[in-house]
Amino acid sequence: MDFNESFYKDPYRIEGNAEVISCEATKKGYGIVFDDTLFYPEGGGQPADRGFLRLADGTEISVRDVRRDKTDRVLHYTDTALEPGTRVGQLIDFDYRFSLMQNHSGEHIVSGLIKKNYGYENVGFHMSDVITIDISGELSWEQAMDIEQKANAVIWKNIRVDITLPNEASIKDMDYRSKKELSGQVRLVGIEDTDLCACCGLHVSRTGEIGIIKLLSLINYKGGVRIEMVCGAKALKDYEAKLDSNTEIKNLLSVKPHEVTDAVKHVLDESAEKSARIAGLSSRYFDLRVKELEEKDGIIFAREDILDGTELRKLCEKLKSSGKATVSVCLLPLPGGEPSFRYVIASTKYDLKSLAPALNKALNGKGGGSKEMIQGSFNASYDKICEEIRGILLLTAPV
Ligand SMILES: [Zn+2]
Repeated sequence: MDFNESFYKDPYRIEGNAEVISCEATKKGYGIVFDDTLFYPEGGGQPADRGFLRLADGTEISVRDVRRDKTDRVLHYTDTALEPGTRVGQLIDFDYRFSLMQNHSGEHIVSGLIKKNYGYENVGFHMSDVITIDISGELSWEQAMDIEQKANAVIWKNIRVDITLPNEASIKDMDYRSKKELSGQVRLVGIEDTDLCACCGLHVSRTGEIGIIKLLSLINYKGGVRIEMVCGAKALKDYEAKLDSNTEIKNLLSVKPHEVTDAVKHVLDESAEKSARIAGLSSRYFDLRVKELEEKDGIIFAREDILDGTELRKLCEKLKSSGKATVSVCLLPLPGGEPSFRYVIASTKYDLKSLAPALNKALNGKGGGSKEMIQGSFNASYDKICEEIRGILLLTAPV
């Protein structure tokens, strides 16, 4: 790679003219090669540019992807074929490009500072809505926050970002990041006192253009850490989204912005207190129900309406352990047009697991469980359910 394309010469140029050299049909659409290009092809962790080609008649063709092939040609993928010799305008989506530049330069600063302060390498780098960097050693969140402070200080100093193409002789003794895999011409991106790194990506010309660097998260990853971060316009967007969310929460809780955490803790405490009270009341309710429900032919039917599924099961367990009946049937109406019920059936004497298919068949239901307890749903009226269960149990021998 000789770094001769126009996007390298001036990453701030957003419009220019070029001539089609070749156009081939590929799986990804037409791959067009120009005599020069403003479009950055995906590489070095930086996504491809977005933009348009403008024809002489004003038609604009969207460039869907840009890739460099093995022979160093830059292919521009479009849905439209262009004849070799055609002259087109190349228009870059600069907001998108500039955001990538801000984020890529910001990533260099953070990776450079981590290397400088802790000696760890950046071993993985990915740019999308956020930047992900994988670091070869462990960092605490406090250490990461210290790096963030230092990184923003580098931004506020508005240092020049130097891009150089050193010759082989001069590069031998230079200390820079990403040394290993590269062969051929090396392109160095340098930020004074902060970082020097081999890179083929596009960068801002001064650090001040990055605006801000914000680290979002840090997790342990493959013996080191994975950091998520955002810079510049993406950081502002992230701040806006979080502010919106915080505003919504504070409005819901009717508190001031800085009171949100305490208010949420209060709501959670209150909720835990209520859950404990409900559990106590339920327990008393179960005891009362066990006392008042009467068995007939060894069967108790409990038609409930205020319980949830878990509570229905608890009631059934209590009925079973009370020993008042050999079979306890607990039913809870399910919402919907047709009569349908959630059921929990427990028994001390019958093998319910083997009875479940007959019950489900007779009552248009589904479900199952163990020998001692089954649960599921029936699609039948309450009276029909009682009648069928009685009938089936009468014909079945206890075990
Ligand atoms: Zn880079």
